[in-house]
Amino acid sequence: MRAWILGAALGGVMTMAAVAQPAPLDPRVQQILAEISAPRIEQRIRRLVDFGTRHTLSETESEQRGIGAARRWIQAELEQCARRSGGRLQVSLDSFVEPAGNRMPRAATLVNVVATLPGTAPAAAQRLLVVSGHYDSRNGDVMDAEGASPGANDDASGVAAVMELACAMAGHRFPATLVFMAVPGEEQGLLGATHWAREARRQGLPIEAMITNDIIGSPRGDAGQVDERQLRLFADGLDPLLRMLVAARANTPTPDAEARANEAARESLQQLVLAGGSEDLPTHQLGRHLKAAGERYLPGFTVNLIQRRDRYLRGGDHLPFLERGYAAVRFSEPFENFAHQHQNLREENGVRYGDLPEFVDFAYVANVARINAAGLATLALAPTAPQNVRLDATELSNDSTLSWTLAPESEVAGYRIVWRHTDSAVWQHHQDLGRVARHTLKNLSKDNVVFGVQALSKDGHASLAAFPLPLRR
Ligand SMILES: [Zn+2]
Repeated sequence: MRAWILGAALGGVMTMAAVAQPAPLDPRVQQILAEISAPRIEQRIRRLVDFGTRHTLSETESEQRGIGAARRWIQAELEQCARRSGGRLQVSLDSFVEPAGNRMPRAATLVNVVATLPGTAPAAAQRLLVVSGHYDSRNGDVMDAEGASPGANDDASGVAAVMELACAMAGHRFPATLVFMAVPGEEQGLLGATHWAREARRQGLPIEAMITNDIIGSPRGDAGQVDERQLRLFADGLDPLLRMLVAARANTPTPDAEARANEAARESLQQLVLAGGSEDLPTHQLGRHLKAAGERYLPGFTVNLIQRRDRYLRGGDHLPFLERGYAAVRFSEPFENFAHQHQNLREENGVRYGDLPEFVDFAYVANVARINAAGLATLALAPTAPQNVRLDATELSNDSTLSWTLAPESEVAGYRIVWRHTDSAVWQHHQDLGRVARHTLKNLSKDNVVFGVQALSKDGHASLAAFPLPLRR
């Protein structure tokens, strides 16, 4: 019997040790991980490299070379998976004209290739979980649209992982909706992702999680470091929120609908920060979830949670989502070899430069795809986070009382209170409850730990944690 069922039977209060046994691994999630294939990822990375260059402004007419051919091939591959799924996976093109700008000497049509796996539960299907890789590439000159630009690691690795995820997950059913994206224009300024994020915000789409996979191809660094059991996860919500604040101040007094929607998102995040939740924004909760799920389903693998939006001097396709208040994170390999990215193909003093397939470890990419799959599948099977979570701060007490709005029984089977010491980045303890809307933890002082509340599905999948706002007198 699962802990929370027992909890329900006891009137919602668990008496077992605070660190309970985790629910058993879900065989559906394990099956998805098993279906992810390193040889298929290798084939796809090599195929993407064969287009010579995938620069955003490269050739679009040829079937052999350039970004147009690459995009049509990605679309065709995903459509094959869509057919195998009996049409459940839906492939579409999000095409738009990007005007001339900073790294765009002329206007050009850019196309996001999007595969959507609609959720199977009417309410939960509104929730979107988005995962992306960028299919454009570059060499040493970001404006060189013609020279060789294989982009095997940056970012054929991410695109191949996303394609593998789409095809493996399409054979399974999830209450929430999954969106798999291959986007262009990353190297020219995150253009494809920005377009999609902006449209999502305009349409008020509730994106619960966004993950970009960018440079996930190798466990080796340029000083010979190697660790094929590690992955970095960049997850910070505070820095982007502060940027939103500064941007809002600089804005014109007549904001459009998108600016108003962004403002509302910013205000709700700001409320969390003012309540002490600067490390408990939705992006942080997503980071914790992906680390925990990935490490549970791929034992021996470590996801290094880095509370920083990205590496210095670099950015990625999660940023346009973060800047609009969505929870968004980036996976990247543990070390980097800068001789193998953003370089012209050449040899100098015995060193080979360039982003070539021989510098990619396909088995490693498959494991990164599995880490994604574990996080996405468990989240897509879980309910949405609890609403109106509050921490009772009306009286001096060494107990902690939390409350929340009880969701319908069809969606939520129970709740889990998680907590950690303030110097820990991850949840350390939890207590499972039945369908209750309030619980007191005796002799556990709210002054000393950080709480979160998760909703549980009937098969034990936990939602992202919600930070409790203090309820004051
Ligand atoms: Zn990249």
